[in-house]
Amino acid sequence: MSRTLALSAAHAGAKLEPGVIERRALRDDDVLIDVAYAGICHSDIHQVREEWGTAIFPMVPGHEIAGVVSEVGAVVSGFKVGDRVGVGCMVDSCGECDFCKDGEEQYCAKGSVLTYNGTGYDGEETKGGYSQQLVVSERFALRIPDALGLDVAAPLLCAGITTYNPLKRWGAGPGKKVAVIGMGGLGHMAVQIANAMGAEVSVLSRTADKQQDGAKLGAQHYYATKDEDTLPKLKGTFDLIINTVSADLVMDDYLALLRPLGAMVNVGMPTSPYSVAPGSLVGGSRVLAGSNIGGIAQTQEMLEFCAENGIASVIETISADEVNLAYDRVVSSDVRYRFVIDTATIPAQD
Ligand code: NAP
Ligand code: ZN
Repeated sequence: MSRTLALSAAHAGAKLEPGVIERRALRDDDVLIDVAYAGICHSDIHQVREEWGTAIFPMVPGHEIAGVVSEVGAVVSGFKVGDRVGVGCMVDSCGECDFCKDGEEQYCAKGSVLTYNGTGYDGEETKGGYSQQLVVSERFALRIPDALGLDVAAPLLCAGITTYNPLKRWGAGPGKKVAVIGMGGLGHMAVQIANAMGAEVSVLSRTADKQQDGAKLGAQHYYATKDEDTLPKLKGTFDLIINTVSADLVMDDYLALLRPLGAMVNVGMPTSPYSVAPGSLVGGSRVLAGSNIGGIAQTQEMLEFCAENGIASVIETISADEVNLAYDRVVSSDVRYRFVIDTATIPAQD
């Protein structure tokens, strides 16, 4: 066992406070990571606030983790001390089921182990990346390419893969019109990745506030959805819509923006059910789909894709004492575009 500093929430909705947590002793296939940066994903807020159902407390959130390997277990073969690495939303899976064998560990038949707010196969509760050290099996560590800074790479471990996966699966590329609803942490990655894949990208944001940023990130078009005539004008336009919004939307209004046979993929996780008129789907044989992060091999592929295409997260780096304020700012969409915690600022405990 080793002790490390972390930010943790004592109960649902509690503020994050600095404290000391324990990490397991290194197993043979584990790496010890000195965490440098941890991104704040909206999912962290949903879970700390118990908006998705019962959660495990005390909770150390964080599944957008970047750092440097500082120790390796006896049989680790893929990493050495000093390697730059990342960890995303999962830290274990059975490794034997069809999905694991296919590199889709997020669908593991035994249940993949979440990086935090989860229980490991050893029965221990998992604690995430808002901390200075993390122990993880090398199977769930990713290599961060040299071209990417650790700070701007951290958010790729969730926001990057969560958008890369459906863009690739649903064929974003040359000749395809892709719209991204909501330009937040996930949305600003979706715009960059879809553009790099060669698609014609549109941002559907509530206001015109982020229009210049949208263009800089590679969107050819930008629409403010609060203007009443915006959605009616765009009917039947897009081949693919990636919906990153974590609040209620009038789904029928957005499904109408798809061309026949087009697909809308939800990655946002609002807390209430969607309501959809059957005709919104049946009329143009449209698809309404969901997408859940991505597997480990594809996460590595995404990191390399981002490095090769000069893509990274646009971040605001914060210190540990700013995290609670940052949560409120994420909820009010007051972040450009991801908060990243500098974990060195977690204060030492007496
Ligand atoms: P975020 O940074 O808060 O971005 C969400 C964006 O949605 C906002 O920037 C805003 O964009 C828009 N939005 C917010 N409130 C809205 C409202 N009331 N009506 C319409 N639009 C609104 O959050 P995020 O970190 O990108 O995460 C987004 C969602 O994805 C969360 O629910 C999160 O839990 C989920 N998630 C899912 C996966 C997965 O595997 N599927 C992975 C990670 C996260 P504009 O200001 O541009 O309108
Ligand atoms: Zn996330």
